[in-house]
Amino acid sequence: MDSQQFREFGKAAIDMVADYLDNIRKLDVLPSVEPGYLLKALPEDAPEQPEQWQDVLKDFSENIIPGVTHWHSPRFHAFYPTGSSYPSLVGNILSDGLGVIGFSWMSSPACTELEVVTLNWLGKLLGLPEEFLNCSKGPGGGVIQGSASEATLVGLLVAKEKMVRKLLKNNPSLDEGIIKSKLIAYTSDQCNSSVEKAGLLGSMKMRLLKADADGRLRGETLKTAFEEDRAQGLIPCYVVANLGTTGTCAFDPLYELGPICNEEDVWLHVDAAYAGTAFICPEYRHLMKGVEYADSFDVNAHKWMQVHFDCSAMWVKNGYDLINTFDVQRIYLDDVKTDIKIPDYRHWQMPLGRRFRALKLWTVLRINGAEGIRSHIRNQISLAQYFAKLVQNDNRFIVEPEPSMGLVCFRLKDGDIMTKRLLENITEKKQIYMVAATYRGRYIIRFVICSRLTTTEDVDFSWKIIKAEADLTCSNNVITKSKIPAINLQETISSCEKSK
Ligand SMILES: *Cc1c(COP(=O)(O)O)cnc(C)c1O
Repeated sequence: MDSQQFREFGKAAIDMVADYLDNIRKLDVLPSVEPGYLLKALPEDAPEQPEQWQDVLKDFSENIIPGVTHWHSPRFHAFYPTGSSYPSLVGNILSDGLGVIGFSWMSSPACTELEVVTLNWLGKLLGLPEEFLNCSKGPGGGVIQGSASEATLVGLLVAKEKMVRKLLKNNPSLDEGIIKSKLIAYTSDQCNSSVEKAGLLGSMKMRLLKADADGRLRGETLKTAFEEDRAQGLIPCYVVANLGTTGTCAFDPLYELGPICNEEDVWLHVDAAYAGTAFICPEYRHLMKGVEYADSFDVNAHKWMQVHFDCSAMWVKNGYDLINTFDVQRIYLDDVKTDIKIPDYRHWQMPLGRRFRALKLWTVLRINGAEGIRSHIRNQISLAQYFAKLVQNDNRFIVEPEPSMGLVCFRLKDGDIMTKRLLENITEKKQIYMVAATYRGRYIIRFVICSRLTTTEDVDFSWKIIKAEADLTCSNNVITKSKIPAINLQETISSCEKSK
């Protein structure tokens, strides 16, 4: 393909994407395909002869789109949002146009320096303490990781290395392997699955401590866990606090956890993957009170900030902790020596290669402006509150816990079985998409304002579907048999209760 054909192909693809997004409400949010549909539709072997780009786009609309779950549909209320906006999309095109790999300053100076600049901008917009910022006097700074999962694992690996070094320095006769086997990490039983996975990947035992009735990990609980484990000869090493849990968007009190971690010299990582974006609005910053105690902080710009996956913004107070953990030298990597202010980002992450991800963050920050992002957040939260009112006005439902950010959790008064059946029946019709969680041992449905396109009319539409399905489900005589693989409700609830 030459540049002329690229111009045509690229412009046609952009038109197709714009049409897709303009018409997204016309599509069911969940696709009507069976497992294996695409395997059957596409040839078994790659084409031997070159094909036309027109045929690729044709198959894209005929075979790919029908098998897509429409994450940017205003009817998508599952999980948390994944970011999208035109500025971000174009930022991605520019990044791919350059196609650079920025593992060191020399490998593409702009790639490194734009990341420093945008993370300084963003860190200031979120109101992070100065120590986290590259533009402060100290060794702090930001880095774009691929995902919150990676940020949590990077934090864990760095905490481990730092603890081992410290203990060996104080007592060189200790055995490194034995120290590592005694290290232990902590988070709450409300943590995202990726936090637990970081423990598995990083070979560190991870205790999921019992959150309080509001889903928050309390200082007392952490303190007691440290004491119990120290008494067993274990070494507390890493704590992951959650600002905006995935289940109910609860906020751990950093002002309680932080001082305990600092006193005991334990690394505190903050997972604010979804809700962290809200700190761009000053009225929500009280929810991160105590953030100055943290060693690392992560927010997914690719969730609520209208930036496409993957763009997880992570800040650390001390960049040397990362370099001490991840610096591996090779002669072919031996280029211009820079200091901590101009990082060789390969030492700040797990892979060697890295894309120019700062470009999409830069285009979004510039074209939307801080005010644009703030009004997006405020608008989404007010839509969630609007939805909560609709649910509260229907006396068959309970909204619980209090709505938090763009998330509203609710259930039928009729009990867990009926609530679960309601969700299954709604999902089966594919018009709106929500997922479940548990709260105080009960089954709840999570409704999240996800799409940036969502309006009040869209919320009305979703509510109408929920209400109509509740009419059917609650009238008891119409019980559609679910095709959705059922989670074992009894098991979910009893395991939830066990952990309480
Ligand atoms: C979404 C989410 C994650 C995982 O984010 P990835 O970027 O997909 O790894 C982690 N923690 C919380 C609280 C989340 O909401």
